[in-house]
Amino acid sequence: MEFLGGDIDCRIWSSLPEARIRALGEMVNVGGVCMEVYSVSVRRDAITIVGRLSARALDYREHERSGRAQIASGGAPSFHLTWSSLLQPSGVLGFIVLRRPVVLTGGAWSPQEPARVALEVSRRSCEPLEMFIGPACCVLCNGDIAPERLAALPDVRTCVNCQRQRETAASRSRNGKNAYA
Ligand SMILES: [Zn+2]
Repeated sequence: MEFLGGDIDCRIWSSLPEARIRALGEMVNVGGVCMEVYSVSVRRDAITIVGRLSARALDYREHERSGRAQIASGGAPSFHLTWSSLLQPSGVLGFIVLRRPVVLTGGAWSPQEPARVALEVSRRSCEPLEMFIGPACCVLCNGDIAPERLAALPDVRTCVNCQRQRETAASRSRNGKNAYA
């Protein structure tokens, strides 16, 4: 099923427990990795999926640095979900089976286990669809952006914590410059 219009195979089941069982079955069959999904952001050219993954699921870390933890998988992922995940998203939306190798391609690994990571799949659709399924997620830490913050600042893409850290870092570097001036 291709309703998201991206390089991801969507399979709709009648309940989340069933979606989970089907995802785990596929994971075992293909020797892959299963990720719990919390948020899907659809843009014209790409879909960003944020979910939880254990460090043990990673085959390789290309590099570690600050910013958003992002993963890539060895083949087209499949997304096991339900209609109600799409229509009334809350908590876990579904389960993605990733093909090995699963590689951390960028960003810092969170100290929490399992960590939140973002998976980006390309989208070739003429429809200029833009939507979120589930919460909007911070582009720096993959955490939820509070609905009140989004209501006040509709274009904001970072959470309050990351924004504060950015401002602290900026004021530190300004003060540092002053000290040497
Ligand atoms: Zn953040």
